[in-house]
Amino acid sequence: MKTNHITLPILSCALVLLLQGCTLTSHPLGKPAIGKPSSSAEMERLIDQPGPIQLETINSADWSESLADLVNLKSPVAIQAELRDRDEPIQIYAHLLKHPQRGNYLVDTGMSRKLVDDPGKEGLNWAIQKVMHLEKLHINKSTAEILQGMDGKLSGVFFTHLHIDHISGMPDIQNDVPLYIGASESTETNFKNMFVRGASDQLLKDKQSLQEWRFQPDPQNKFEGIIDVFEDGSVFAISVPGHTPGSVAFLIRTTLGPVLLTGDTCITRWGWEHTVEPGDFTADHERNLKSLKSLKELVASHPQIEVRLGHQL
Ligand SMILES: [Zn+2]
Repeated sequence: MKTNHITLPILSCALVLLLQGCTLTSHPLGKPAIGKPSSSAEMERLIDQPGPIQLETINSADWSESLADLVNLKSPVAIQAELRDRDEPIQIYAHLLKHPQRGNYLVDTGMSRKLVDDPGKEGLNWAIQKVMHLEKLHINKSTAEILQGMDGKLSGVFFTHLHIDHISGMPDIQNDVPLYIGASESTETNFKNMFVRGASDQLLKDKQSLQEWRFQPDPQNKFEGIIDVFEDGSVFAISVPGHTPGSVAFLIRTTLGPVLLTGDTCITRWGWEHTVEPGDFTADHERNLKSLKSLKELVASHPQIEVRLGHQL
């Protein structure tokens, strides 16, 4: 009887945790992020004018992953195309953004060599190591090497989302660098997060608290919210929830024209061309697909936008 009294509450607690899930990370939230709420009308008014940003997309690591993770193979379009699961070559990017007055920012972080050399120490338990297939990962330019080659210091990191392959450069990023995320990215619960939360916490350990963009509803209703990051119309953070609750895309007005960084709202070239959202690690497929369609409509209206996808160009 005594055992039942003890085990029952423990079991019900475990069940609640299993049903409710947990957040992507328990890393603390800090003050709200820089930038001011904007609108798709304001962003679209400026898109086709050259901007001041220098942007370099760096292929930090070559990798491969199961296509079922990268594209929703159960979508009607994928079924009709008879797309089958296979190992698909992908890349892990860091995007280095240089603003003439505000300095250097990264969008996502690339890959730290420390993570590959000693994954256990950086928080990747054996199960994550097995799923990630680190043996298939080849670093071209580590996050440390990207930062060494940079002119000046790093002023901040803008995350498209907090999945491990987007925070995998954190071991190389100094603890005082501000970190920016989408709304609810670190606070919404999902049972899928139980698997990765320990690793996310470890990668963010001792780093700055996470600053959320202060999205307001888009007056034109094309997106869930848009932030004018530097308040000069040079970089826009676009709320595109679905792949994760706080997924963010970035529209960057570079000196060479507008560039859209989709993050994992769309991971592959096939997914973009066929309007199919990513697969197994997507939190909400319906919302992800809606966000993907909104991004595609933006590009259809402004065809000079260069699109850089989550893990393929
Ligand atoms: Zn992802």
